[in-house]
Amino acid sequence: MYCAEHGRAVVGSCQWCGKRICKLDIGKSLGKKVFCRQCSSDLGSYIQKRQMQQIREEKESQARKKQYSRIFDSY
Ligand SMILES: [Zn+2]
Ligand SMILES: [Zn+2]
Repeated sequence: MYCAEHGRAVVGSCQWCGKRICKLDIGKSLGKKVFCRQCSSDLGSYIQKRQMQQIREEKESQARKKQYSRIFDSY
């Protein structure tokens, strides 16, 4: 599968609009998730918020894990 616009190999599809995108079309990437340029400019602030939330949740779950391990260590 090649991008119709650039003739490059498609690397994934936009997580927002589902459009197949090549390397040149990637506007934003969050780990394995990619967003096309159009959506990343439209959703830039939204994605950033989500990313911040994800980071916060990760930190929280890590803290929770630490708490659990502390409980188990005390036994
Ligand atoms: Zn898109
Ligand atoms: Zn392209």
